[in-house]
Amino acid sequence: MSVYLDNQAAKPVDERVVSEMMLYFNEKFANPASLHYDGDVATDILEKSREKVAKFVNAPDRADIIFTSGATESNNLGIIGAAMRQKKKGNHVIISEIEHISILNIGKYLEKEGFRVSRLPVDRFGIVRLDKLEKYITDETILISISTASNEVGSVQPTAEISKLAQEKGILFHTDALASESVLPIDVKKVPIDLITLSSNDIYGPRGVGALYMKKGVRVNPIIIGGGQERGFRSGSENVPGIVGFAKAAEIMKEEMPKESENLKKLRDKLIKNVLDTIPKSHLNGHPEKRLPHNAHFRFDYIEGESLILTLKEHNIAAATGSACSSKTLEPSHTLIAMGLLHEEAHGSLLVSLGRTTRESDIDKLLEVLPDQVIRLRKLSPLTPSDFLKKNEEVK
Ligand code: PMP
Repeated sequence: MSVYLDNQAAKPVDERVVSEMMLYFNEKFANPASLHYDGDVATDILEKSREKVAKFVNAPDRADIIFTSGATESNNLGIIGAAMRQKKKGNHVIISEIEHISILNIGKYLEKEGFRVSRLPVDRFGIVRLDKLEKYITDETILISISTASNEVGSVQPTAEISKLAQEKGILFHTDALASESVLPIDVKKVPIDLITLSSNDIYGPRGVGALYMKKGVRVNPIIIGGGQERGFRSGSENVPGIVGFAKAAEIMKEEMPKESENLKKLRDKLIKNVLDTIPKSHLNGHPEKRLPHNAHFRFDYIEGESLILTLKEHNIAAATGSACSSKTLEPSHTLIAMGLLHEEAHGSLLVSLGRTTRESDIDKLLEVLPDQVIRLRKLSPLTPSDFLKKNEEVK
């Protein structure tokens, strides 16, 4: 196994989660909808799991949790479902320019369905412009969807302020919490968000399971129609082993997050300091302080991020250039462009994301390899200082 520094693309499933799930594959495997005793056992574990996920976000009632197949589906249910439900009230939805591709594409879908979708700009640190949010809101605005943090550059968004503004204006607020849920606590009693996308894998549970937290009284239209499971909000037989794993992961995460986040922050800070100190013309993308404890996103002038990833691969180090879901496109990251970077700058990025299994030796290994490889790639690079000039600048 390589030195794994791509935890924002996928996380390993915690051993304790795997053991908890095993029983529900071939021993207690019944369908919760079945009326026999085994069905009751499945219903019981399903509801206990719902309770644990509700506790993870400090929700008052387990009924506030709707299980889904993951973050993409939760985003669809939370945004399309809420927009469709409120169509008679208004047709305007606000997202940000730096949302995950699943939300950007939901925005395009809503436009085809006749909604007006505004994309809130961000500052050079990748933080949404709150001053503009108020100006974007009209009488037609029915929903704001802004992620808790950027899954790329790690900037943490002012979720509490957005929630307050949305509440004052009577607008629903949805947030995709995937990027931050393993490192920043969610407390819906303190910050009363209406709809929250949660994912199991991002807290070291199995992939293919997620949830939508839905505040009491908030309603969405279902997007998957069928047998009426999950109180009619999400049909389809529940993935009981996956949900059991998700719940166990949530229970562990709630307990271990404070200490774990602190450790990740120390490792991240060591990495950032060393990279910026030892590699000339290296930069940190995203906010220096308001950033996810497990995220370090760099850019190096004159090199291509993809070449760097392949070089690191040769040294058995797994990292990324940005969001895994957009990694196959040749386009520069929409997040970096929205932050005002040039295409050349945006192409030179490296996303290092740490996790529960990251050790200091992993960071040391990266720090040992990275500076030489950046120098080597720069020697091969056709890019020159003039490619990095913003308008009105001159080569010094
Ligand atoms: N939202 C964010 C912020 C993500 O990073 C991702 C991908 N990891 C998703 C949504 C989609 O998650 P999934 O592919 O598990 O549905």
